This record gives sequence, structure tokens and C-alpha cells, in this order.
Amino acid sequence: MKRNIICTVCPMGCRMTVEGEGTNITKVEGFTCKRGEEYAKQEFVCPVRILTSTVKTDSASTPLLPVRSDGKLPKDIIIKCMEVLRSTSVKAPVKSHDVIIENICDTGINIIASGSLE
Ligand code: SF4
Repeated sequence: MKRNIICTVCPMGCRMTVEGEGTNITKVEGFTCKRGEEYAKQEFVCPVRILTSTVKTDSASTPLLPVRSDGKLPKDIIIKCMEVLRSTSVKAPVKSHDVIIENICDTGINIIASGSLE
């Protein structure tokens, strides 16, 4: 299998090609630096993303609180994590970086507040 991947690690946006099957990578082309090569391999084997979203609050003036994951989550579990976020509501006060959901979907990654709520 061959996949074209655009590197998002820096603004240069190098276009890379990865060949292989499953976790066995046989060729990576088009990267300019080691970080890009590692990104391409990760994208090919198991794409991961930082999840950014919002959760409901009990505040009438601030009904939504911005949140994000404190690490990268496998892309194929993001929808399941979003369902958890949709059913989550927080009560004030919340400080930035407070843990909102611990170990979301048993990933070992926490969802933390990106903002505060008085
Ligand atoms: S391969 Fe390196 S130089 Fe190219 S976009 Fe990725 S990080 Fe930037």
C-alpha cells in the first residue's frame, strides 16, 4: 500500500509518500527532516490528533467551556471521545488546565480545560 501524506509539523508542508503494509514500512520519501519522517510513519501506522472541543457548563453567561486533550489520541477513537464530551457538563468554578475527564475512553489521555469558568 502507498499513501501520500502532507506533513503538518511545520509550515513547509512537505509532501511525502509512505509505502508498506500495516506496521511494516518499507519506504518513506519526500521528507526534509527527521521530524517529518517520524510524522509520516505515525500517520501511516496510526494517525493521532490533539482533540479540541467544548463541553457544556452550568453557567447561563458561558454555556460552553473550551477543552482539549493533554496528549494525542488515535484518530479512529476521536468520534467516541466526542460522544463522551457531548454528554459531559461542568460546574463552575473551573481553572484553565483543570482535568475535566480523566483517562478518556481508557486511552490514558485526559481532557483538560483550555479556559476558565468563574
Ligand atoms: S518534513 Fe520537516 S521540513 Fe518538511 S514539513 Fe515536515 S517538519 Fe517541516
